Amino acid sequence: MKTYRLLINQVLCDGCGNCQKSCPINALLLKKNLLSENTAAIYVQDGKAHEGAEVCDGCGVCVNTCHKKAITIQMVE
Ligand code: SF4
Ligand code: SF4
Repeated sequence: MKTYRLLINQVLCDGCGNCQKSCPINALLLKKNLLSENTAAIYVQDGKAHEGAEVCDGCGVCVNTCHKKAITIQMVE
């Protein structure tokens, strides 16, 4: 099964939070009242974005949203 790994450049990231807000997986979890730092696909903590739980589907929305071009997606077999 393919999964996706998020690589977030911690130097470029300014913690704006747009990736966290734009992620459809996070939106779905929020709708179900299940969104937390333990469940999110991507989240911001201490001013930087971090890869979250193993729920990212590789849609690329966060990559396109990031104005700092700080996020890349890697496919993992
Ligand atoms: S959108 Fe980019 S700059 Fe903003 S918090 Fe996410 S990774 Fe960082
Ligand atoms: S690639 Fe899609 S599912 Fe994965 S963290 Fe980014 S917006 Fe969310």
